[in-house]
Amino acid sequence: MHTYDRQLAGELPVWVDGAWYTIPSRYTYSGIPIQKTTSYVGQYMENLGLDVEYHNWGGSTYPNVIGEITGLINPDDIFIIGAHIDDVQGTPGADDNGSGSVATFLAADILTQYQWGCTLRFALWTGEEQGLNGSHAYAQRSYNAGENIVGYLNLDMIAWNTPNSAQTISLYYSYSVPGSLAFAQLFSDVVGAYNLNLVPVLGTGVTGSDHASFWQFGYNSILAIEDNGDFNPYYHCPGDTPTHTDLSYFTDFVKASIATFVHKSECLIPSGLGSLDGHVTASSGGAPIDGATVSTEDSQGHSYPTTTDAIGYYTQTLVANTYTVTASAYGYQPTTISGAEVITDTVTTLDFSLVAIVEPLVYYIYLPLVGRK
Ligand SMILES: [Zn+2]
Repeated sequence: MHTYDRQLAGELPVWVDGAWYTIPSRYTYSGIPIQKTTSYVGQYMENLGLDVEYHNWGGSTYPNVIGEITGLINPDDIFIIGAHIDDVQGTPGADDNGSGSVATFLAADILTQYQWGCTLRFALWTGEEQGLNGSHAYAQRSYNAGENIVGYLNLDMIAWNTPNSAQTISLYYSYSVPGSLAFAQLFSDVVGAYNLNLVPVLGTGVTGSDHASFWQFGYNSILAIEDNGDFNPYYHCPGDTPTHTDLSYFTDFVKASIATFVHKSECLIPSGLGSLDGHVTASSGGAPIDGATVSTEDSQGHSYPTTTDAIGYYTQTLVANTYTVTASAYGYQPTTISGAEVITDTVTTLDFSLVAIVEPLVYYIYLPLVGRK
């Protein structure tokens, strides 16, 4: 989380268009920097297996970027989690709004590991700082197309908390938008249900971020943001750096946001948990291999590595799914088994017998020592 935020703030490079690039600015009219930023986001989401749209609402260098998991049962019911990724000139924008952007990245990373009945979208907006332009164009297009956006969770500035102060968060809904109060209450309930160290406060009347674009077209939406009474003193300034964030507050805020989004959608297809276990041994002689790596990868490319113990045994708990499993150990050729099924409440056993890598033979010739007794 901290790494992603540092990348967006230009402290660490990102991998984009096949090369490392350090983002100098995320200002919407910065040209190459915002183009690289939005390409980075799109490529990040493509790597997670999402369908990615670059929504050119203004100019081709600063599209909104939206990743989608299309629902398997009710694809027309659409839920969006998102944040504006642009910033103002002269600020690294770690909190405003690297923080909400990072939460959206993590939501995409985690939720692509599951199956969904409804459609989930992960949105990064541009042009927010000039007047919510990117999100407005998107909400308008959705409205004109008759899209059924059931909920939009907007995250903007979720990482600042004055040290040693109460971990208050603000949740903004609108009297005129049906369901938005219940949406804010759901967020608050999630904080309680998961024992997160946050103090939710509900409020109304804040229209300065992208949720307001959705309100304008009658879509249910809320804004989740830091405590309005504990405002980030580095807002829109050069000091809005990752150092000036509170990682424990930020972490709980991200957890609460992703969990609220999932509960709001109510369309997780229960897939349950199962386990994978087995032994890794040497093909010649059958000796157990201690410390072998067993790496399990799902179809989206997420990998879950584990290590064998002294008797060459490994076990891991996984979401029911089909996996490709590779065992490797120093001095042996790696072996891969694809199509391994992990089934709910069931143990699937996969044993590996690894073939030693044949080293070139070396003959040691021991010369008799002479002249010693
Ligand atoms: Zn902002």
